[in-house]
Amino acid sequence: MRQEVIVIGGGIAGLQCARELHQAGREVLVLERARGVGGRLATRRYEGQPIDFGPMFIHGQNPAFLKAVKGTEGVIFPSAWPRYLQGHGQPCQPNAFEGEEQRAILPAGLNAFAKDLAADLKVQLQTTVTQVTPDAEGFALTTEAGQTFLCRDLVVALALEETLALLATMPVQPELVGIQALLGMFASVPSLTLLAAYPREVPAPEWDILYPDQSASLQLISQDSRKRESPEFITLVIQGRPGWSAQRMALPNEVWAAELLKLAAEQVGAWVNQPLWTSPHRWRYARVDRGNELSRPILTTFDNGLRLGLAGDVFSPGGGVQAAWLSGSALAHRLLNEVRL
Ligand SMILES: Cc1cc2nc3c(=O)[nH]c(=O)nc-3n(C[C@H](O)[C@H](O)[C@H](O)COP(=O)(O)OP(=O)(O)OC[C@H]3O[C@@H](n4cnc5c(N)ncnc54)[C@H](O)[C@@H]3O)c2cc1C
Repeated sequence: MRQEVIVIGGGIAGLQCARELHQAGREVLVLERARGVGGRLATRRYEGQPIDFGPMFIHGQNPAFLKAVKGTEGVIFPSAWPRYLQGHGQPCQPNAFEGEEQRAILPAGLNAFAKDLAADLKVQLQTTVTQVTPDAEGFALTTEAGQTFLCRDLVVALALEETLALLATMPVQPELVGIQALLGMFASVPSLTLLAAYPREVPAPEWDILYPDQSASLQLISQDSRKRESPEFITLVIQGRPGWSAQRMALPNEVWAAELLKLAAEQVGAWVNQPLWTSPHRWRYARVDRGNELSRPILTTFDNGLRLGLAGDVFSPGGGVQAAWLSGSALAHRLLNEVRL
């Protein structure tokens, strides 16, 4: 069966695009590689306690985006978190603390925002698309498991480098070459991230996020447990800086995780070296390099009327979760309103 629209990628950009198309009556299927939706807006649980390990809070100033965030069940909005900051290092999104920005956190974890966007959508999880082939009526998608999906219009809503990798599987066509050249001028930055849990008795500091002064290695340490009501554990999220992370991306997890823990202990106290549990995560494409974004999503109509749309955090100014959401929304608008050539 040929779907009207397939969206590859169940992150915030893909979900918002799919949601608006679905609300306008289009038949949409989202294909997502992971076991859950949300992509980089990621939350894990340790003994049931949520830990956000992508962005630490949602922030933005666009009224439509903030309205969507505000609509999420249980959201704390506006939130003062992080209220207590330590250090003068650079936050990954310095604009997050500017006057007009509003912030939100979710008791169930930030990923609940993505789950909420996905609520009425048809989403097929654990489905990695490996090949895109245009055909006479649209696109044929092949997955890692050897399944084939057919659609009329196609939306690709992935991290920049993942988008480029998928476009490279398509036959060379003039429309694509221009897009590939344009996107090739941008880049994402990595972040090696370590989650760590401790008993409640440790001498936890009185800050929500530490931005280490002049550290070439540590981006931040977030005390995630301070977002939770009556947490069972003290939980830290330790993020490496992009340059530091890039240099260690090829090393085994144990090596860079031990280094991150040691660096965090130097900043916070020796107890940090004695976690109950740790979990390393490699964000190969954590976020778009700052200030390196396009102004809107791409929608291409091929000679035979096939439409290919690209959304994601690189397709809206400012990057981050708000940009991903806005790009998905803008692409849905274009798909619904632009006449097929
Ligand atoms: C450590 C870290 C810190 C951050 N800090 C901030 C911050 O402070 N503020 C902020 O606003 N933003 C921050 N961000 C960035 C923010 O999380 C992202 O910009 C945003 O979530 C991107 O959403 P997206 O939908 O564009 O992409 P993604 O979330 O990457 O969604 C893409 C989805 O596609 C799936 N996928 C990939 N390839 C395939 C395939 N071949 N087939 C099927 N599915 C596929 C992926 O699993 C993923 O779910 C941070 C990110 C990280 C990792």
